[in-house]
Amino acid sequence: MIQGIHHITAISGNISKNIRFYTEILGLRVIKKTVNYDSPDTWHLYFGSSAQRPGTTITFFPFPGFSRGKSGNGSVKVTAFSVGSGSMGFWMKRLREYQVSYRGPSRRFDEEYIAFEDFDGLELELVANDKDLRSGHATPGISEENAIKGFHHAELSYSSVEKTAALFTGVLFHERLQEESERLRLFSHDTLPGNFIDIVGRPSLPAQQQGAGTVHHLALNTPDEDRQQSLAEKLSKTGIFTSEVKDRQYFKSVYFREPGGTLLEIATEGPGFLVDETTETLGRHLKLPPWMESRREEIENLLPAID
Ligand code: ZN
Repeated sequence: MIQGIHHITAISGNISKNIRFYTEILGLRVIKKTVNYDSPDTWHLYFGSSAQRPGTTITFFPFPGFSRGKSGNGSVKVTAFSVGSGSMGFWMKRLREYQVSYRGPSRRFDEEYIAFEDFDGLELELVANDKDLRSGHATPGISEENAIKGFHHAELSYSSVEKTAALFTGVLFHERLQEESERLRLFSHDTLPGNFIDIVGRPSLPAQQQGAGTVHHLALNTPDEDRQQSLAEKLSKTGIFTSEVKDRQYFKSVYFREPGGTLLEIATEGPGFLVDETTETLGRHLKLPPWMESRREEIENLLPAID
């Protein structure tokens, strides 16, 4: 069983600019400051509108000095956030104030959206809608009603969409919702923002070149480890190799590459981001999982400084 997007993880270059873009400009909060558990000399930064639920968290592996990648096929091309239907004017003004150029507003599936990029060139959208009941995180300059509510959808791009669409609908509990030109919108659980996956056919677009400003993987939310296990078994039966279960402290993860090339993760909803911090202190200090705590000093010395 899948209940929408759990998180999206991308690669960034300059750490301080990465933090500035998502907190100061987009108004998300730092939910967690930790390290890449598979490579603890690299930061893993989590930004979100709420620590209480998945589906609002974009995370980054910052590699200072890493050259820019190029978005393309076989990957998540666009990460779209959801805002209230009356907020588009606010956001266009805000992006202009911060000299972030955007395209739009345009319309798709009867919703207005604008498209822009972060400082590393990661492709983002804000989609205005009146269906999203989640509340945003108010910050100085952004009221709760204008704030980003979480993800709206992830856009996956392929030269040929069939195999990926078949996996999502046949194995990953997604259903078809709408189609518009080369775009197929799927949903899991219910038809609300945060649960949409758009699969777009672009026959002539080159494959993604991974680097700063590209998505590393997309994580889908599953309620618990039993459901995660049965999904992993289902994937294995279709011939897809899945990783062992990895303990990510805030959730348990299983990774696999779908036939179209995108790295996907099935992440459990719990235990969540409040296992080692309170809501008030979220994101302030470097958090390490218990098995790395004895190496804290060494890890702190390895990590690039944050201004
Ligand atoms: Zn992940």
